[in-house]
Amino acid sequence: MPSSTDSNSPVIWDVLIIGAGLAGLSAANDLHQAGLNVLVVDKGRGLGGRLAGRRIGDATFDHGAQFMTARDSRFKASVAEWIDAGVAEEWYSSYPGHPNGHPRYRGVPTMTAVAKYLATDMNVLRTTRVDSITQDNQLWSAALDNGDTISAKALLITSPVPQTLDLLASGNIPVPADKQARLDRIDYEACIAVMAVLDGPTAIPAPGATAFDEGPIGWISDNLQKGVSKIPAVTIHGSGGFSAEHYDDDKILIGQKLIDAAAPYLGNAKVTEYQVHGWRYSKPSVVDPEACMLLSESTDLPPLALAGDAFAGPRFEGAVLSGWAAAKSLIAALA
Ligand SMILES: Cc1cc2nc3c(=O)[nH]c(=O)nc-3n(C[C@H](O)[C@H](O)[C@H](O)COP(=O)(O)OP(=O)(O)OC[C@H]3O[C@@H](n4cnc5c(N)ncnc54)[C@H](O)[C@@H]3O)c2cc1C
Repeated sequence: MPSSTDSNSPVIWDVLIIGAGLAGLSAANDLHQAGLNVLVVDKGRGLGGRLAGRRIGDATFDHGAQFMTARDSRFKASVAEWIDAGVAEEWYSSYPGHPNGHPRYRGVPTMTAVAKYLATDMNVLRTTRVDSITQDNQLWSAALDNGDTISAKALLITSPVPQTLDLLASGNIPVPADKQARLDRIDYEACIAVMAVLDGPTAIPAPGATAFDEGPIGWISDNLQKGVSKIPAVTIHGSGGFSAEHYDDDKILIGQKLIDAAAPYLGNAKVTEYQVHGWRYSKPSVVDPEACMLLSESTDLPPLALAGDAFAGPRFEGAVLSGWAAAKSLIAALA
């Protein structure tokens, strides 16, 4: 449990983490392992951030990240652990035209299973937004949307960088000019995701997913073939260009456009129901070269780090590596 100097003083956590996505939860595990008291706060209802699953009736969808690849040796060992624990499995390693690709792993039953596994034994406050952060002597103070305030010796922020910059601005936290320039360079693609329930099987060839280099669709996957859904259900991701152009359009109309564009992949199946989700910050298109950013380095600020897929690589694995890197920096900063 967190430290408290006497029964009337507020609880002080060693580390407060904003974000229960892959970066935040991976960092939480390493910090917890190092004996630190960690609280993770996330505004979302579920765990996993951009790992997201949704149900519409009997249909189930992965509508955020679709799979993970593994290159780093520690990350490969984690994937092996998740497979042993039954929360991940290999989905495919080759697809039409690409016979020998990297293995693609998926969460079981959905991508969020890995986040739920990482959250085991962690202190996570869900549906709670951090509205602002301020420095309070040698502590961080976070104002939550439920009116509570959290105090911590160190802070890790893992939200997409534009949201992180807003949080830093909320408490007038000074950002050194060189780091500000690095943060300003980071950019993201938007993605409009359509989840459509079908009355029959799709015409998407095995393994049940196709990526596109041009046109309105970036990716389409068959959640039934993937093993995610009990009944036919497709996820259609708008391409970066299409999603940026139509991000503020009526979501149902724009979803119908993507369904129309996907017609050759739906075969004879008809859409019986669909929902649309907009990811304003889906994947970084410009990343920082470092694995995380220790913003408090060479300043008088208490330990403060930034992490997420904008740092160690624009994907699932990058978010995890970034979380681990941030945990290492904060452990050293708190020593
Ligand atoms: C549509 C889509 C498809 C993708 N496909 C793939 C793929 O196939 N393969 C792959 O490797 N990667 C894919 N990705 C990318 C992958 O999902 C991300 O790289 C990874 O999940 C990012 O993790 P993260 O922890 O950095 O950020 P996030 O998952 O975004 O976590 C940040 C968390 O911070 C929380 N938060 C933000 N602000 C606050 C606040 N003020 N208070 C409290 N909580 C807050 C958010 O709710 C969120 O849960 C995809 C992403 C999307 C959106």
